[in-house]
Parts: sequence; structure tokens; C-alpha cells
Amino acid sequence: MIKNEYYYEMNELANECRREWFINENVPIDIFNVIMNKFDDVTIVFMNMENISGASTIIGKSKLIFINSKESYARQRFNIAHELYHLRFDNRSVTCTGEENKENENKADQFASCLLLPHGALCHYEKINHLKNNWTLEDIINAEQFFQISHQAFIWRLRLLEKITFEDYNKFKVSIKNKALNMGYDTKLYQPYHETNCTMGSYINKVNKLFDKDLISPGLRDELLLDAFYYDKVW
Ligand SMILES: [Zn+2]
Repeated sequence: MIKNEYYYEMNELANECRREWFINENVPIDIFNVIMNKFDDVTIVFMNMENISGASTIIGKSKLIFINSKESYARQRFNIAHELYHLRFDNRSVTCTGEENKENENKADQFASCLLLPHGALCHYEKINHLKNNWTLEDIINAEQFFQISHQAFIWRLRLLEKITFEDYNKFKVSIKNKALNMGYDTKLYQPYHETNCTMGSYINKVNKLFDKDLISPGLRDELLLDAFYYDKVW
């Protein structure tokens, strides 16, 4: 049985964040947009990282989130939300291999799940779609597409709340890309958002501001942009 002892506490933390960012509880969240518009100190680095979903670190006033570029868009969204928990509530550098501090990893996972899909929104969705412990694979895909949450994260959530049986959880734990395609959805959710090494967020903006204020030379600017994989911005 999956432990859900932190679930409601993590849901409240996630809802506090939504309220702070003026994002309604019942709507899907654009987590990349949140990073770009609600933070001026967070940079996301997409890298091919073996066996690591994500990592985050704080350097002075700057916060860095490292995301595995090979994972799907849905998984990358979940991992950004997971790393936001570490940055905001753990306040320390972490590498998420699944091996270290199981309690914090569990909390970060539940926070991420609730940030992408608040508990109230799940209950509301069930109510308007007449779902109550009778979820089918099609219902699950429809909800995942609406909230833009990964298949694995969503069925884990349904199992956590005992809305599906363990047998159903195992039955639903399949690749659903073709099924979603046959239901008329595109495959964006199941493919990487950025598959190659790249950077988004405050770092690029800061480098360019330093250059605009003549605080760094053109050579140093180019070097700093190359460090952030901005090959096409260097001339
Ligand atoms: Zn973690």
C-alpha cells in the first residue's frame, strides 16, 4: 500500500502556491510559464542525465533546476513541480535518484502531483464526469490530457487515494500513447518538451542584462551563453 500520510498537507502547500500565483484550483497549470513569470531567480537546465529525473540547487540568489531532457513532457512537468518543492520547502540542493531521503522524495512527489492536479479539482472532475471508483483507461487518459499530468503519476495518485484497486493499477500501467492517439489526442504529452541540452529561465536574461549594461565583455557574454547551450545566440 502506498503511504498517503502527507497527502493533505502537501495538497494544502500546493494550493497555497496556486493562490499566490493567482491560478485557480480547477484549471491545468502551465508549470513552465509559472517558472518564467512568477520567479525571477529560477533557471531550468534540460540535460541528458542517466538514471536521474531531476536535481535542484541554490547558488547565492539563483536557483537551478536540472531536468532529464530524455523524459516525456508530462514527466518533465511533474519533475519541475517536484524540484520546486525542494527549492521552496527543503531549501537545499538535492539529486533525485530515488535512493536518498525517501520521506522528502515522497513529499516532493505528492506536492508535485497536487500542484498539477489539486485534490479539490480531482473531486470536482470526478463529480462532473460521474466517476467514483469506476475509472476506465479512457477516463484516465481524458483526465491526464485535461490536467496534463503523466500517466504513471495519475494512476499512482488514483491508487494512493484507493480510487482504483491494485489489480487495476497494474492493468493500467501500460504504454498509452497509441490509445491516446486513437482517442484523438496528440502525442505532445508523451514526448520530451526539450530533448536536447538547453536552458530556460532567469540565467539568459541576467547574462544579457549584464551585457546591455556593459558590465561584461562580448567574449564573456558568449562564453556564458555557450555554458547554457545557447549556441545559436552566439555570433
Ligand atoms: Zn526529489
